[in-house]
Amino acid sequence: MTSANPHSLRINGERLWDSLMTLARIGGTDKGGVCRLALTELDRQGRDLVVGWARDAGLSITVDQIGNVFMRRPGRNNSLPPVMTGSHIDTQPTGGKFDGNYGVLAGLEVVRTLNDHGIQTEAPLEVAFWTNEEGSRFVPVMMGSGVFAGAFTLEHAYAATDTEGKSVKDELTRIGYVGSEVPGQHPIGAYFETHIEQGPVLEDNDKTIGVVSAVLGIRWYDCTVTGMEAHAGPTPMGLRKDALQVATRVMQEVVAIGNRYAPHGRGTVGMVNVHPNSRNVIPGRVKFSMDLRNSTDALVDQMDADIRAYAAQVAAETGLKIEIELVSHYPAQPFHADCVNAVQRAAERLGYSHMPAVSGAGHDAVYMAKLAPTGMIFIPCKDGISHNEIEDAKPEHITAGCNVLLQAMLERAG
Ligand SMILES: [Zn+2]
Repeated sequence: MTSANPHSLRINGERLWDSLMTLARIGGTDKGGVCRLALTELDRQGRDLVVGWARDAGLSITVDQIGNVFMRRPGRNNSLPPVMTGSHIDTQPTGGKFDGNYGVLAGLEVVRTLNDHGIQTEAPLEVAFWTNEEGSRFVPVMMGSGVFAGAFTLEHAYAATDTEGKSVKDELTRIGYVGSEVPGQHPIGAYFETHIEQGPVLEDNDKTIGVVSAVLGIRWYDCTVTGMEAHAGPTPMGLRKDALQVATRVMQEVVAIGNRYAPHGRGTVGMVNVHPNSRNVIPGRVKFSMDLRNSTDALVDQMDADIRAYAAQVAAETGLKIEIELVSHYPAQPFHADCVNAVQRAAERLGYSHMPAVSGAGHDAVYMAKLAPTGMIFIPCKDGISHNEIEDAKPEHITAGCNVLLQAMLERAG
């Protein structure tokens, strides 16, 4: 540190808020949200704006081949790997102003604050934004950070197409964000990500900071129950093979399992297809989704075993076939104790109310945690709502989360 006591440093909350509102105008919707899908013209404008701000703050820019952008502030010892923060600036079609954007602009505000006070860190700092985190236009989600972490190949990501058949490679080229750096060939000393919680827990507990210890493991299944279509009138109750009646028992159990594995267990049925979906026909086939989550893979394994056992029992009882197919899974990702503790210490020092938290949603930090010590900082969002144009966060929480980020990064960077 060169000047000023770093513990007394505070970010400029008004400047951060102004930047958030300015970026939110690109793709701003009538309802106050943002629609800035990955690799669109609007994404290009958003990227250009943030990169321009970074240059104004004296940062140097590198872009990798999947369009991840790294904005670097040198340290005293530039052979050290950078302490990095970041998130994403693409949004859902009915997205809000804060999801992702907050994490990127909070990083920029940390840099601006250090510039204001002439503070140089030992390790360099970097602010990153990752390509296509949302996965709305192109699948898979968390594409840029996933390629960076080697979860899938660059070629796989390049080949992904949107509903119009446009590929990631072509769209990335069109907006001018194919860089030269090989994804992953970029050292990271530690990684922090600030994000709105996207859930109601902090607000419900009236806490300002969520100290995130893990991202929940996720398993997605398709469950198919096969019965027999028959006329709703002539077929007496005892002689039916009603797939929907059997399916609803399994659906109820999915939710019951989520409840049984409190506090972090989640069980959701969000999608149901009934065949033939006709008022006077006994349903012959029902296909529905199951989404199970928990904070460790061992717990998700138990939930998986429970639902399979229950389905087998119901199938035996009713004689209907119940098939469960795992369609995708994401392991639980614990964060690094040093980073989690740095976040907690920062919240304490700053006098913000805080509580332990887990993330039920995926974030770029999940992939970074495979590469470097990683931690996340949550702040409340109104009613826990995100991926919605009404997504909202309070300026004082926005400021608080960024102050925690500043302190945590300074602690790591020295
Ligand atoms: Zn996000």
